[in-house]
Amino acid sequence: MPWRSIRARLTLWYTSLFTLSFLALGGAGYGLLSYTLSQESDAALRGVAQTLAEREGGRADSLIPGEIDEIFRQFFGFSPLERYFERFSPLDRLRPGASPPGGGKIPLSQEALKNASRGLPTFETLKGLAPYPVRVLTWPVVRGGRVSGLIQVGMSRENLEKTRGGFLLIMGGMLPVALLLAGGGGWVLARKALKPVDRMTETARKISAEHLDRQVQGSGTGDELDRLARTLNEMLGRLNLAFQEIRQFSADASHELQTPLTVLKGEIEVGLRAPRKPEEYQAILRSALEETDRIARLVEGLLLLSRSDAGVLRMDRRPVDLKTLAEEVIAAVRPLAESRSVNLQADSTEPVQVMGDPDHLRRLFLNLVDNGIKYTPGGGSVEVSLYKEERWACLRVKDSGIGVAAEDQEKIFRRFYRADRARSQGGSGSGLGLAIAKSIAEAHGGRIQLESAEGQGSVFTVLLPLSS
Ligand code: ADP
Repeated sequence: MPWRSIRARLTLWYTSLFTLSFLALGGAGYGLLSYTLSQESDAALRGVAQTLAEREGGRADSLIPGEIDEIFRQFFGFSPLERYFERFSPLDRLRPGASPPGGGKIPLSQEALKNASRGLPTFETLKGLAPYPVRVLTWPVVRGGRVSGLIQVGMSRENLEKTRGGFLLIMGGMLPVALLLAGGGGWVLARKALKPVDRMTETARKISAEHLDRQVQGSGTGDELDRLARTLNEMLGRLNLAFQEIRQFSADASHELQTPLTVLKGEIEVGLRAPRKPEEYQAILRSALEETDRIARLVEGLLLLSRSDAGVLRMDRRPVDLKTLAEEVIAAVRPLAESRSVNLQADSTEPVQVMGDPDHLRRLFLNLVDNGIKYTPGGGSVEVSLYKEERWACLRVKDSGIGVAAEDQEKIFRRFYRADRARSQGGSGSGLGLAIAKSIAEAHGGRIQLESAEGQGSVFTVLLPLSS
C-alpha cells in the first residue's frame, strides 16, 4: 500500500502545504497588485480632474482636446487611447441621468451630482461603456468661489485588467511546475530522512533469538532516529541478557535435577544387581527417598519461582504473627543446629503482625535460618531476632559463619548461584533458597538486606510492611 508509507504521506503533506502557501501568497500578491494599481490610477485621475477643473473654472473659453490629452499624459505617463472628458454646466439645471451636452457617453449619476453640488468629488466604475470597465471621476468646477458646474474625467481600466490577468496567468502557469518540484523534492527529502529507518528495519529483520547480540546501526548524528537506534540497541541488550539468563537457568535447572536423578538411578541399579538382605534394601530405599525429596524440593522451588515470575503466585493474605512463626521455624531447625554444634539463639519480645501468607513466610524464614546454620562452622552461633522499625517488621538472622564476599553479595540472590566457598564446603544446597526468599519478601511488599564480610559472619534482615 504505497499511501500507507510515511514517505508517501510526508510527500503528500509537504506538497499540500506548499500548494496552500503558494495559493495564499499568490492571492495576497494579486490583492496587493490590484489595490496598488487602482490607487495609482485613481490618484492620476484625481490629478487630471483637479488640473482640468482649475483651468475650466479660471477661463471663459473651453479647453481644446490637445490640451486635455497633454494633461492626461502628464499624470498617466502615456497618451491614453481610451480617455473620457465631459463638462456639465450650469449646475442648477442639471438632472441625474443627463447626457453631457457634447453627446458624450458618460451618464451623470444622482450621487455624483449631489456630491458635486456640495463641492465633493465622486469615483465610479462604469461597465458596458467599452470592452473594459471605465473608472470615472466627477469633479466640481468652482468659478468665483461657488460651484458652477462639473467635469468628468474617465479612463479605461484596460491596462489594469491586463496587468492583473497577466499576473494570474503567470501564477497559474507556475503552479503545476511548483507542484511538481515540491512533490519531487518532498519525495527525495522524505526518502533521505527515512533511509536510516529502512536500514534499521533490515537489521531488525535479521535479528532472531540466536542473534540478539546484533546491533541496529544508527547515524551517529544524535537525531531522533539515532536516538531510536540507541534505544533499540539498549532494548536488544536487555533482551540478550534476559535470554542468556533463561538459557543459563535451564542449564542450571537441568544440571541440578540431573545430579539427584543419577544418584537415584545408581542406587536402584545397585539394589537390582543382586538379591539383598531386607536391611540393605531399606538403606537403599531410604537413600532413594532422600534423593526423591531433594528432587521434589527443587521442582517445588522452581515452580514457586516461575509462578512468582508470571505473577500468579498463590498468596493468602491474612494476619500472621511473625513471633509465633519464627518460634516454629527455630524449633524445626534446632535439631540441625545441635547436630552441627551451632548455638542457635532466639530473641523476640513482642508479637509482630503482618499481612501475608504464613506458608510462604515460614519458608522464607526457614531458608535464612537454615542457611545461617549451614554456613556456620561448628562452635559458631546463629541469632534470630524480631523487632519493629518505623512501618516495618524486621526479622534478623545473624550468624558468625563464613560470610559473603562483597562481590557475591548481590549475586547470591540469583537463581542457582552459589559462592565458591559454599560450593567448596559441599553441603546440600541448590542455590535456589535465597532467590525464593527474595521472591516471597517482594511478593509481600518487602525486601531482604544483607550485611556481611567474608570470614566474619553475615546478617540477613527481612523487612516486611507491618499490618496497620
Ligand atoms: P544454597 O544455600 O542452597 O546454596 P541459597 O540460595 O540459600 O542456596 O544461597 C545461595 C548462596 O549464598 C549460598 O550458596 C552461599 O554461597 C551464600 N549464602 C547464603 N546464606 C549464607 C550465609 N548465611 N552465610 C554465608 N553465605 C551464605
